[in-house]
Parts: sequence; C-alpha cells; structure tokens
Amino acid sequence: MNHFEYHGGILHAEDVPLPQIAEAVGTPVYVYSQATIERHARVFRSAVAGTGRGEPICAFAIKANPNLAVLHIMAREGFGADVVSGGELERAITAGMPPERIIFSGVGKTDAELALGLARGIGQFNIESEAEGLALAGIATARGQTANAVLRVNPDVDAQTHAKISTGKAENKFGVPIDQAHDIFARLTALPGLNLRGVALHIGSMIAELGPLEAAFKRIGALLVTLRAAGHNISHVDLGGGLGAPYKPDDVFPSPEDYGAMVRRVTSDWEVQLVFEPGRVIVANAGVLLTRVIRVKPGMSHPFVIVDAAMNDLARPAMYDAYHHFESVMAHSDSIIANIVGPICESSDTFAMERSCTQVEAGDLAVFRSAGAYGATMASTYNSRDMVPEVLVSGDKFAIVADRIAAATIMAAERVPDWI
Ligand SMILES: *Cc1c(COP(=O)(O)O)cnc(C)c1O
Repeated sequence: MNHFEYHGGILHAEDVPLPQIAEAVGTPVYVYSQATIERHARVFRSAVAGTGRGEPICAFAIKANPNLAVLHIMAREGFGADVVSGGELERAITAGMPPERIIFSGVGKTDAELALGLARGIGQFNIESEAEGLALAGIATARGQTANAVLRVNPDVDAQTHAKISTGKAENKFGVPIDQAHDIFARLTALPGLNLRGVALHIGSMIAELGPLEAAFKRIGALLVTLRAAGHNISHVDLGGGLGAPYKPDDVFPSPEDYGAMVRRVTSDWEVQLVFEPGRVIVANAGVLLTRVIRVKPGMSHPFVIVDAAMNDLARPAMYDAYHHFESVMAHSDSIIANIVGPICESSDTFAMERSCTQVEAGDLAVFRSAGAYGATMASTYNSRDMVPEVLVSGDKFAIVADRIAAATIMAAERVPDWI
C-alpha cells in the first residue's frame, strides 16, 4: 500500500499533485511519502512484535535510504539502524537513533570504523570474519571497553534472487561459512574485550518467497543447539533483512505478517532476543522518481522515450535489470509500447525495453515508481549531471530534504595542480 494515487486524473503524493513539485523543484527529483514510510514501519514492527525474548530490535537498513529526514521518521517509529560504514553510523546518531539500537554490519569495517562504533557506544557489531573479531577485541580492550558482538554466519542458502543481491551462498563474501562457525565462535568468545552473544545472517535482498529464509533460519537454529551444547551463552540472533517489495502492479510478495508468522514458528524455542534489519520493504514503495520526457524519437520497432532522469539518478535498472513501473503523471487511457531511456551516453542507460506504458509526449511528466529504496542513495553525477534532489511530502505539505547539487558546485571542488 502506498500514497501515490491519481485524483482528478493527476498523480498525487498524498495530497500534493506531482506537477506542483516539478514546478517548484524541477526534474528529475525523488518524492517520498511520509505516511507510506510510517505505515510500512508500523506494519513491520507489529508483524514481528512478540517474537523472541523481550521486544525485538528493528534496525532500519540505512543503505536503502539514508536521507536524514527519512531516518528521523524511522527513529520516531522506534527503529534503530543497521549501518555498514562510519558515515552511515554518524547519520544514524545525527537522526537521533539510540546508539544501543545501532547494529554495525559489513565485511570490511576498518579499525577506524570499529573504534568509531565503540566511541559512539553502539549496541552490536556483526562481525564477518575471525580476523575482524580479533581486531575488534583488541581495539575494545585498548579502550577499556567490551564490545557486544554477534558472528555473521553464511548459511549457504540460495535466496533465489538476482545474483548481484544474493549474499547467503557459500561463494558470497559475507559472513563465515556455517561449517566453520562453531570453531570460530569458540576461539573468539574466549577473547577479552568481546561479548560474543549470538549469531547473525542476511541472505540477500528482494527475496520473493519465504522458503529460502525459513531454510536459512532453521540452519541457524541447529547451530544454536550445538553452540549451547558446547556451553556458549547465546542471547541474541540477528535475522537480517531482505524481504522483497512489489515493484510490478501484479507482483505478489509475502507480507510482513506472513514473514512474522514464519519467524514466530521457526524461532519459538530459541530463547534469544531477535534483531531485524529491514530496508527495502519499508521504503521501496514510499518513493517515486519524478521525471520529464525530453523527447520521443522513432526506433527500429518501438519509439524511444527519452526522459530527463538517467542511470546516474536511478542505477538499479542498469545494475541489475531491475523493473520500475513507468507511467505518466496525467492519467491517460491510451498506451504505447516504448523503450524508456535516459540521456546518458551509455547503452545501459535504459530503464525499460519494449515496455507497455501510458501514452507520453515531449514535455510530459512521468514517474518511475518504487524508487524509495536503493534509489537516491546510489545516485552519482556521471556525465557531469546535477546530483538529484529529494522531496518529502506529508499531507498537503512538501519540503526539499536534499538539495539539487549543481554540476558547477561539484566542479568547484576540483583542483588543477600548478604544474599543468
Ligand atoms: C542491505 C542489508 C540489509 C537490508 O536489506 P533489504 O533487502 O533492503 O531489506 C540488511 N542487513 C544487511 C547486513 C544488509 O547488508
């Protein structure tokens, strides 16, 4: 469910007609709905409420949408943060997320980042290798601190998602192999400076069925039994994120309620506090990328609709053939079949080939839907384009929550050395 709907033939974000935003801010621009973010946050939290021991920690995966306004909303909804860099950690703190609900994930945390996490007093480090555990223990000991940590385990389960967003197969770089987890856990848990209190997993993103998640959770359940049998104290399990969101109008995805019911069933005898790291499922459908058609030119068999948004603004189609529904802002009963492309000088700057969509002409406004996750956060200024701005809507109000950064401003940060 989201709050981007047609009223009187004009696509609105909540109560704001999108042409009003295009007029005020220009295009391309990301537009987020606060009501949708809040709704998804609440649906997720209530779906997992009562699982595990005590209330679970819901940590929003910041990399899905790190905009400060979005993080403030998530903090107000009781979410902590799953961060994967020092920069994201500082964002979470700035947005008011309580440090004890900040989880630090990532396969390549530097010593400086580990020290930053300790300095900020974050709740948990998800360590991804024995060497990282040793480094964290050493840094914590030197600081006179004890780091709460869990060991990320790679359960070797195929998430059945796109290869570039799968993380839980043996060949992926994430976590430690499940068959070595027991020995690594035993060695790390003996170290001073480390309170190794459980395990974590995250098998991928855009997961369309609960089966792979359930299989992975069961492997973790079996690991818990052997760890406890060896006398280890396990109080926390981090189940990661990865739940998919519908991108196509007829997509059917497991709901957060279905997911919560599966978690409840599989983890009922685990006796641990659970941690969840949802990203996409909260924000994907809470945003659109608003764009204007520059021109339409004939193609071999289908016309090219050339829009003013490009792969630098929304990289997902170029990176992993992702689908984003494209439609005109003014409702139109006629449809066309077109190739929808951006202006960048790369053939991969293609949003869709042979797509059936509403009739559009030069000058028309249109949107790519479901652009709230992994959209603006992956934007660049390739081809010396402006950095795409972001707008947040609430009811009949809207505000720019990230400025358009002009190509000239980027150029002004560059230097020509005096030997040239
Ligand atoms: C990216 C990521 C997530 C969030 O994944 P979604 O598919 O957006 O839910 C959660 N945990 C970790 C460790 C991640 O890297």
